[in-house]
Amino acid sequence: TSKTAIGSGPSGRRDSRKVLIAHGQRQIWVGGDAPVVVQSMTNTDTADAIGTAIQIKELARAGSELVRLTVDRPEAAAAVPYIREQLDKMDIDVPLVGDFHYNGHTLLNDYPDCARALSKYRINPGNVGKGAKRDTQFAQMIEAACRYDKPVRIGVNWGSLDQALLARIMDENAGRAEPWPAQAVMYEALVTSAIENAVRAEELGLARDKIILSCKVSGVQDLIAVYRELAQRCDYPLHLGLTEAGMGSKGIVASTAALAVLLQEGIGDTIRISLTPEPGGDRTREVIVGQEILQTMGLRKFAPMVIACPGCGRTTSTTFQELADNIQTYLREQMPEWKKSYPGVEAMNVAVMGCIVNGPGESKHANIGISLPGTGESPAAPVFVDGEKVVTLRGERIVEEFQDIVLNYVKSHYGV
Ligand code: SF4
Repeated sequence: TSKTAIGSGPSGRRDSRKVLIAHGQRQIWVGGDAPVVVQSMTNTDTADAIGTAIQIKELARAGSELVRLTVDRPEAAAAVPYIREQLDKMDIDVPLVGDFHYNGHTLLNDYPDCARALSKYRINPGNVGKGAKRDTQFAQMIEAACRYDKPVRIGVNWGSLDQALLARIMDENAGRAEPWPAQAVMYEALVTSAIENAVRAEELGLARDKIILSCKVSGVQDLIAVYRELAQRCDYPLHLGLTEAGMGSKGIVASTAALAVLLQEGIGDTIRISLTPEPGGDRTREVIVGQEILQTMGLRKFAPMVIACPGCGRTTSTTFQELADNIQTYLREQMPEWKKSYPGVEAMNVAVMGCIVNGPGESKHANIGISLPGTGESPAAPVFVDGEKVVTLRGERIVEEFQDIVLNYVKSHYGV
């Protein structure tokens, strides 16, 4: 009944093969029963090896489990092995994915060190070439993947769909007694392009468990429809993302709306949130948003969650906002080290509440909670640890003292 369905949580994962993406000892599995992987992409010029290595380090430290970078010209391909070397020296073992368009066949053949340093290749079948050249160039890229034993994502994008294939699908549609609407033709073209190219890659010798598919579009309803269809028609793992999602809250909301529906149906094995950075904005935002989608849906845990009330006319000062922001940032920044020293800490909950209306109740349900004084309340902030009130903080140093309480809790409860 609908009563039992409500709140029953995500349905089971779609059956898919498991693909291994590795660098040295680091192994990232995508598909099957592996956790949904969060990935991101650099926006530096890959030929700027140092700038790119720094951004990859930041993305990896924020929690990106794979990082893609564009390999668009010889200078970029030449830089890739050097970028890999710099990352290895910094102990950053995140696997790198090379994004190829138009000239991937040449770059993979002319720069074997680049082909080796990458842990996976992304091939856009719409940007491989035209006519007979297309088949040859696609084959050259797949042969490189076979030679260097690398997995491949066949990544179709509505903005660069193979026009010959689209024309063929439109012709087939015109011959139907009841032609499909234009949108259905578009969905069919995207899905057909991904699957036909995957089958072709297998015919060329690429193992079936080396292939991941994606069909990216920029409309929420389109993405849901396309992935539902794709999920039914193959058992390759799926890379999920709303392409060109946009800036700021619009990009976050659109990505979340589309991905949440699909993830709830068990569709999607790795996600990338494509946010247009605000001027001077931080690229790691897309990693954090990806993690938060998975964590708030109960699919994975990455960092302790901060439960904070929205605040209202009862919040007297900025201490409440400062404390919520400070604790969230502090917890995230600690995670790369805490993950090693305090296993399981990502399951912790911290409540930061603006006053006593809901504060003590929420605080008692969290591992640690604080309820700040509201308007007219005495300047005292009770702190709860595992449901029990342990101390009341007062004065100017509430933020620092609460942070100390959180750190001591982490050490005593998750230290090994
Ligand atoms: Fe307002 Fe207090 Fe509720 Fe926060 S807990 S929203 S401050 S009434």
